[in-house]
Amino acid sequence: MKVKRAIVWFRNDLRLHDQVTLKQAMEQAEEVIPVYIFDPERWRHMEPGFVKTGAFQTQFLLEAVADLKNNLKSVGSGLMIYQGVPATRLLAVAESFGADKVFASKEVTWEETQQETAVAQALEEAGKSLELVWQATLFHEEDIPWPIQKLPEVFTQFRKENEKSTPIRPALPAPKKIPTPELPDTNLPDLESFGLAPVLSDPRAVMSFAGGETAAWKRLHHYFWDTDELKNYKWTRNGLLGADYSSKFSPWLAHGCVSPRAIYEEVKRYETERTKNVSTYWLVFELIWRDYFRFVCKRYGRSVFFRKGIKGKPLELTQNLELFEKWRTGMTGVPFVDANMRELLLTGFMSNRGRQNVASYLVKDLNIDWRWGARWFESQLLDYDVCSNWANWMYVAGVGNDPRENRYFNIPSQARKYDAKGEYVRTWVPELAAIPGGNIHLDELSERDIKSHGVAIGTDYPYPINR
Ligand SMILES: Cc1cc2nc3c(=O)[nH]c(=O)nc-3n(C[C@H](O)[C@H](O)[C@H](O)COP(=O)(O)OP(=O)(O)OC[C@H]3O[C@@H](n4cnc5c(N)ncnc54)[C@H](O)[C@@H]3O)c2cc1C
Repeated sequence: MKVKRAIVWFRNDLRLHDQVTLKQAMEQAEEVIPVYIFDPERWRHMEPGFVKTGAFQTQFLLEAVADLKNNLKSVGSGLMIYQGVPATRLLAVAESFGADKVFASKEVTWEETQQETAVAQALEEAGKSLELVWQATLFHEEDIPWPIQKLPEVFTQFRKENEKSTPIRPALPAPKKIPTPELPDTNLPDLESFGLAPVLSDPRAVMSFAGGETAAWKRLHHYFWDTDELKNYKWTRNGLLGADYSSKFSPWLAHGCVSPRAIYEEVKRYETERTKNVSTYWLVFELIWRDYFRFVCKRYGRSVFFRKGIKGKPLELTQNLELFEKWRTGMTGVPFVDANMRELLLTGFMSNRGRQNVASYLVKDLNIDWRWGARWFESQLLDYDVCSNWANWMYVAGVGNDPRENRYFNIPSQARKYDAKGEYVRTWVPELAAIPGGNIHLDELSERDIKSHGVAIGTDYPYPINR
C-alpha cells in the first residue's frame, strides 16, 4: 500500500532522467515533495585556509539546482530549496507535509554518510524513514562480482571482470508527470549568501560550463552527435587547450546532472548509428575508473582522507605554507606547473594530464602534504567529486591503488610531450615571453632551474599574473 506523501531529497543527483529516487518515491507514495538543501558545512573553511566549496563550483551548483527546479515544474511538480542542516530541514518538511518517507541517493564517503545517519535518526525518532538508493555508478553495487571487502586492489582486475560479467542496468526515462501537493515558493540563494564573490569569466577557459541537466545533454549532443568528436577521443584526450580534446562531462557527472548509465547508452547508440572504435570504448573505460574510485572509497571509509592513505604508508611530508601558496597560485617558477595551476585558479578546470603533473609536483618535488593539494582541488574544481578527487590524489601520492611503486612525473619531459610547441604554457604564463632568453624552449628554462636550484621555486616572472 502506498503512503500518502514522500520526500525526494536531491543531493549530487540533480536530474530527472535516470533518477531512481523519483521512481521509487512515485511507486511508494501518492504524492512526491522534491527538496534541495544547501548545507552550510559545505562552505566551511578548511586548513590551510580556504573555503571548502569555492565560487566556480557554487555557481555551477546554483545553476544546476535552478535547472532542476524548472524541469520539475515542467512535469507538474516543483522544488523546495533551503539552506540549513539536512536532518533538521527534512524533518520539518516531513512534519509539515505529513510525509512518512524520504528517498535519497546513497553516498559513500565520511561526511556524506554521517549526514545520512543524522537524517535517518531524526526521521526515525519521528516514526519516519530514510530510504537510500544506489545510483551514481555505471555498475550497480549489487551487481559487481565481489563483496565490497574483497574489491580488487588494482583497477585492471576490477575493469576486466566487470566487463566480462557485470550487466549495466538500463537508464530510466524522465517521469512525464510527478504528482505533487501545492508547494510554497522558496528562492535560490545567491553566491553572496555563501560569502563568495561573483565568478569572473576568463577568455582562455576551455569552455563555459553551465550547470544543470539541460546543459549536460547539450554538451553530450555537441561532443557525440554535432561534432563527432567522440570517435577521436582516444587520440585527443591528453590535450590541454580547447573544448573538445575530451568530453568535459565531469562537472555534470559530479553534480549528477547526467548519469554514467545514460552516457553509456548514448555511446552504444553512437556505436550503432555512427562509429565503433577504440575511442568509443575508451570513454566507457574512463567511466569505469570513476566507478572504481567510488567503490574504493566505500571499501576503505575514512582512511581515504588520511595522509598515509589506504596503503597505510607513512610519508614524510611537510606543511610548508609558503611553497604551497606558490603552487596554489601558479608562481612556482616551473612553467608547465604554473600554467595548469593558473588555469585552475582562474577557471575552475584543469585537464587530466595537468592534474597528474601538478599533483605529482606538489608531493614528489615540493614534498608537501598531498591532502592540502586535494583540498585546494576540492575548493576550486567545477567537477569536484569526493571519490574521484581523493582517490586520484592518493594514487599520485603513492598511498592509493597504484600498483607501481614511486610513480614520478618528470615535468619538463611531460611538458615537451604534451605541450611540444609551448602553446599551453604561453597561454597561461604569457610573461615568460618577456624573460631575457625567453626564446629558449620553455621547458629548458625549468630544467635549467631544476639543475641549479633543486627545484625552480622563486623564479620571479617580470609581470604579475594577468587576472
Ligand atoms: C589529482 C587528480 C584529481 C582529480 N579530481 C577529480 C574530481 O574531483 N572530479 C572528477 O570528476 N575527476 C577528477 N579527476 C579525474 C580526471 O582528471 C577528470 O575526471 C577529467 O579530467 C575530467 O575531464 P573530462 O570530463 O573531459 O574527462 P574525459 O577524459 O572526457 O573522461 C570522461 C569521464 O570519465 C571520468 N574520468 C576520466 N578520468 C578519470 C579519472 N582519472 N578518475 C576518475 N574518473 C575519471 C570522468 O567522469 C570524466 O568526465 C582527478 C584526477 C587527478 C589526477
